[in-house]
Amino acid sequence: MGQQPAFGRRRSAGATVVSSTENVDPALPLTYLENVSKLDIITLPDRKLRARSAPVERVDDEVRRFLDDMLETMYEAPGIGLAAVQVGLPRRMVTIDVAKREDENADPNPLFLINPEILWRSDERAVHEEGCLSIPEYYAEVERPASVRVRYLDRDGNLQEIEADSILAVCLQHEIDHLDGILFIDHLSKLKRDMVIKKFTKQAKIAGKPAPL
Ligand code: ZN
Repeated sequence: MGQQPAFGRRRSAGATVVSSTENVDPALPLTYLENVSKLDIITLPDRKLRARSAPVERVDDEVRRFLDDMLETMYEAPGIGLAAVQVGLPRRMVTIDVAKREDENADPNPLFLINPEILWRSDERAVHEEGCLSIPEYYAEVERPASVRVRYLDRDGNLQEIEADSILAVCLQHEIDHLDGILFIDHLSKLKRDMVIKKFTKQAKIAGKPAPL
């Protein structure tokens, strides 16, 4: 999930991406990405964002290394949540850190979620402004359940449960949506969604990128 404008430190002009994951085949083992430290975030209208991510079968050092690279990429962007599919790897892995969202001087408080599952959603709903690192510079209000309970494997492969409300609940739902190929714009009206997709498709064409959504 992208950082909102009020907290926005934009990607600096000097930021460089050292490796592209654009052509990663989902069938490739994670070792393919072994030496990547900073990952390339894919954006609309890249069709890979619509892929349904496969479960992680074993939490090993390769998975941990990849999660660390995801976290670094997320901090650098900067964002408060990132799903592996956003860096081109359709596996059910998410990194989240909402600490700085509350207080800019807060210490990092990263959350690594492997195979996360929403066990419970509150009937109460809440509206928050959302953004997405894969839909840069676009923000919109989205209504979702106000609280959720999520089960996941942590970075050590231990089963955990977390109950969250506020921005963490928003972020968890936003990132878990990514694992099923769902973007936050899918929660908006068709008119708004079509406008955003059209805008990004046009920009991609100007930039010479093929394969519109
Ligand atoms: Zn997102």
